[in-house]
Amino acid sequence: MPELPEVETTVSGLRSVLEGEVIVRAEPRRADLRWPIPADLRQRLTGARIEMLGRRAKYGLIYTDRQDVMIFHLGMSGRWRIDPVEIEKHDHFILETANGRVVALNDHRRFGSLDIIDSAQLDAYRFFAKMGPEPLSDAFDASALQKAFHGRKAPIKAMLLNQNIVAGLGNIYVCEALHMAGIDPTVTASSISKPRLRRLVIAIKEVLTAAIAAGGSTLRDFAAPDGELGYFAKEWRVYGREGDECICGATVVRRVDSGRSTFYCPKCQR
Ligand SMILES: [Zn+2]
Repeated sequence: MPELPEVETTVSGLRSVLEGEVIVRAEPRRADLRWPIPADLRQRLTGARIEMLGRRAKYGLIYTDRQDVMIFHLGMSGRWRIDPVEIEKHDHFILETANGRVVALNDHRRFGSLDIIDSAQLDAYRFFAKMGPEPLSDAFDASALQKAFHGRKAPIKAMLLNQNIVAGLGNIYVCEALHMAGIDPTVTASSISKPRLRRLVIAIKEVLTAAIAAGGSTLRDFAAPDGELGYFAKEWRVYGREGDECICGATVVRRVDSGRSTFYCPKCQR
């Protein structure tokens, strides 16, 4: 599943193709992905100029000069193909610009989404209204976490995956950040001291920034006609490394809670 850094890299790749361009074709090739695609999407986009692209949590944002914003989510398997040689079965939405560039949203499992709203309504959008701060913003700090955790009994890992606490964090980067900060994923969030929360915030920003930087260096591959959207930081500290040796010499373990794996080191995460 693409996480925040992969979405950020996708947005950067699309920006280099779409920003400032006029849309001559906006073609949904089916009525729905995870949710219905708005019936007026084609009409609202055709003829519009793309003013800028952005990201909120794991959603990509494409703003037009009609004060609209198209919102996309990559779901489990979504990726954009740039200037595809031919349109494939799972290319569910196609955008073409006046200068002849084509981008296709490919999503074979169809857990992704496409929507369009008035850009003034963005903060009130159903998936954004209750969402916590962006992890790379200044608003995300130890004080914000302490306040959000106050009186809560959930373990730290579940709290970090809660989009109302912090936006856009998924399983991989949460496992990695908790390891970097030396925090046991099962510990009660509200019991973590302020200095340790500071370390955690730094670790979260660091794992995300490193992954985005790694993604940026692969942008050229991403923009290739059949470029695949992959994970860029492959050398995880604990994620997917059950039984491997941690940097401390102990063994990385995996536990499963409600179907979701947590990888951690029992020695350096307490
Ligand atoms: Zn360790």
